[in-house]
Amino acid sequence: MKIVFFSTQPYDKTFFTQFNTENYDLVFLETSLDDQTVELAAGAVAVCAFVNDKISAPVFEKLAGLNIKIVALRCAGFNNVDLEAAKSNGIRVCRVPAYSPEAVAEHAVAMLLTLNRKTHKAYNRVREQNFSLHGLLGYNIHGKTIGVIGTGNIGKAFAKIMLGFGCRVLAFDVIANKDLEAIGVEYHPLMEVLKADIVSLHCPLNEQTKHLMNETTFAMMKKGAVLINTSRGGLIDTKTVIKALKTGQIGALGIDVYEQEEKLFFRDLSEDIIQDDTIQRLMSFPNVLITAHQAFFTDEALTQIANITFTNISQLIKTNNISPQAALLV
Ligand code: NAD
Repeated sequence: MKIVFFSTQPYDKTFFTQFNTENYDLVFLETSLDDQTVELAAGAVAVCAFVNDKISAPVFEKLAGLNIKIVALRCAGFNNVDLEAAKSNGIRVCRVPAYSPEAVAEHAVAMLLTLNRKTHKAYNRVREQNFSLHGLLGYNIHGKTIGVIGTGNIGKAFAKIMLGFGCRVLAFDVIANKDLEAIGVEYHPLMEVLKADIVSLHCPLNEQTKHLMNETTFAMMKKGAVLINTSRGGLIDTKTVIKALKTGQIGALGIDVYEQEEKLFFRDLSEDIIQDDTIQRLMSFPNVLITAHQAFFTDEALTQIANITFTNISQLIKTNNISPQAALLV
């Protein structure tokens, strides 16, 4: 039985080949999945897609035409999938809901510490025998107030780390997590949480959260606050965050995700002329740190992603169902 993987990198091949205990015929394609490339999946029992594949209604219609009944996402987020179209075409869609929340939470902390203590600058300076501390002044994270928006798997892991740092942790979510409350996390309305010294985004991208961070919400933030986004680029109105950085309303920005990332991330464009002026402007700020959607990228996470994706596909083939249900979207 053949599984066709879209948007693959060499590490996908390494991990999925290693954990292919059911001996599926694995086909790894570099191209992303869209209505132009979907036919490459002909003959497969399932397709496996990633964060920037656009799995739209035309893609589902063509998949149904190819008699492919399973789309397995090898990620947690699913804002790029037309679930209604999946349903109407009788296609099951599954994901990996919690492969390693700590991987993403730890990356958010890494971004925060880098921006605050400027270790990226220190590294380069010392290599050039510049041992001056000028411009490297940071502050203690201990004692600061952290705002966590979205306290699911990743937000919860992030909140726990920040409690360990000795921070006051404020949270906003549509559902409060009782376990977090029990260890000291305080739930408040969004506008209160936005007043924190450091705000980290961990909610999904959907119609309610698109451009959650906009002119109005930036104005609610404490002047000079740090904003971290390891969730999805569309949570931040990028053009407006540039204005907020220019006025100093945002003191530092760490993003692992970017609104227009599908044209840039996961590729080596070092010899190209980048046409996206917005990311070029962001990259020009000394207080902006950008990583290219790497928060998930740990050995433990990739192991889990491969194992859970195979389990999802095998269960769907055998029983047309999945346990736990959180993995099944349609
Ligand atoms: P999750 O489903 O466990 O948690 C999401 C939380 O957000 C839930 O508690 C939910 O109630 C809350 N939420 C939903 N709508 C909200 C709203 N309007 N306001 C506030 N909170 C809201 O998901 P997760 O595993 O914690 O992942 C969170 C997001 O992180 C994913 O949606 C994905 O986009 C992103 N992610 C990024 C990477 C990466 O490598 N950068 C890796 C994995 C996941």
